[in-house]
Amino acid sequence: MNEPSIYDVLIVGGGVTGTALLYTLSKYTDIKNIGLIEKYSDFGLVNSASYNNSQTLHFGDIETNYSIEKARSVKRMADMVMKYLESEKDNPSGKNLFSKYSKMVLAVGTNQVQELKKRYPPFSELYPKLKMVGREEIGKIEPRVLEKRDPEQEIIALVTEDGYTVDFKKLCHSFIDNALNKRPDLDIHLDTKLIKISKKDDHYAVLTNKGEFRSVVVVIAAGGHSLLIAKSLGYGKNLAILSMAGSFYTAPKVLNGKVYTIQVPKLPFAAIHGDPEVHSEEITRFGPTAKPIFQLERHNMSTFFEYWKTFGLGVSPIISLVKIIFDKVLFSYIFINFLYDLPFFGKRLFIREVRKIVPSLKLSELKFARGIGGTRPQIVNNTTRKLEMGEAKLCGDKIIFNITPSPGASTCLGNAYADTDKIIGFLLNKYKFNKEAFERDLM
Ligand SMILES: Cc1cc2nc3c(=O)[nH]c(=O)nc-3n(C[C@H](O)[C@H](O)[C@H](O)COP(=O)(O)OP(=O)(O)OC[C@H]3O[C@@H](n4cnc5c(N)ncnc54)[C@H](O)[C@@H]3O)c2cc1C
Repeated sequence: MNEPSIYDVLIVGGGVTGTALLYTLSKYTDIKNIGLIEKYSDFGLVNSASYNNSQTLHFGDIETNYSIEKARSVKRMADMVMKYLESEKDNPSGKNLFSKYSKMVLAVGTNQVQELKKRYPPFSELYPKLKMVGREEIGKIEPRVLEKRDPEQEIIALVTEDGYTVDFKKLCHSFIDNALNKRPDLDIHLDTKLIKISKKDDHYAVLTNKGEFRSVVVVIAAGGHSLLIAKSLGYGKNLAILSMAGSFYTAPKVLNGKVYTIQVPKLPFAAIHGDPEVHSEEITRFGPTAKPIFQLERHNMSTFFEYWKTFGLGVSPIISLVKIIFDKVLFSYIFINFLYDLPFFGKRLFIREVRKIVPSLKLSELKFARGIGGTRPQIVNNTTRKLEMGEAKLCGDKIIFNITPSPGASTCLGNAYADTDKIIGFLLNKYKFNKEAFERDLM
């Protein structure tokens, strides 16, 4: 691949966020010199890897901690990914990108049933295919949800056929392949790690283990590392990260589709749910759990010091963290989630959560999924001392930083759309973004 002396745009990070942007820039703009660097030897090996996330295309219909506004925004972006997946499914590069299942959110007991009934009317307007069903219908779709359940227990569910389980690592590859088909001159460098970035007069100098790259515009799509890089340039000083690792348990097929439970509104992470594995419906995965770790990447101890550098060692982030963690709801949630990872006891505690979905599940059917599950870089705002919901985007002088907890994979094309719009402005409208084509194809 040719290395131009200076890029118009350089993307740092080859997860689903960075590759979706590369695809969008190459297909829908006439920007000339575009590069991407990724520190590992392949794309999508960190949080976008299928074994590190819940593989769900989140639309906001069965995620009961989303407000209607949040659901509307997530749906718009998830629809883009859905359209991309559907348009790719017959292409060789689109093979095994996703599987489709039914999905439901279960309400159990009087309070939850009332809550879900109240939620249904506005959400059914936004999601016309969402149906409210009772015990009998639930049993037809998911027999094991009813097996050994107390017949007196009140139960309803919101159900839809449109449950997408996605291999987001494969999606990264699909974006890259399609971008290269369109623009073989794209400059892509694997095994290339950003070590330092500095602003020169009219460009950024990006120092890597493979030498220096220069670019007018830079987009950092490096997950939790995006905040570390932002801080090195003086951005995002009032933010820190709470790195919430998620583990999973597996069982032989006990569900036909995705089954979610009602979420605790205060928590920005998904409640425990059951999903079929993207490449094997014979396995049902339960999770994710949520426990804080002091690493920017799970299973990578070398990111321990990077975590603390990102966190900042001042008093302010520590006060924020203490205030957030010692909130009654969050503290008990985190405490119990810590226990779920313990050998022997973890499984015995976790099965109580799983039995809210599958009451008849046997202890011998449940297995801790070792080495599975990434970590979500949840944003801590040191000004409001609150944990923020969803992704954060910081925009600076011709630079964008994307920090992407869940549902960051579902929103990758929506993010790419917003970033592309910004990039065109950064490049003083010298190039064009064919929004009509993007919208026609993906919205
Ligand atoms: C347990 C769990 C469950 C989740 N479930 C879902 C779900 O069901 N649905 C959903 O939509 N989202 C889910 N998410 C969130 C989703 O996985 C992420 O939001 C998404 O993968 C983020 O993609 P990304 O490209 O921004 O980050 P990543 O996939 O983490 O990619 C960042 C890339 O940047 C690279 N990088 C970092 N630093 C550098 C550097 N210095 N130089 C060069 N490259 C660098 C990394 O190597 C990596 O490849 C889940 C996350 C977790 C942890």
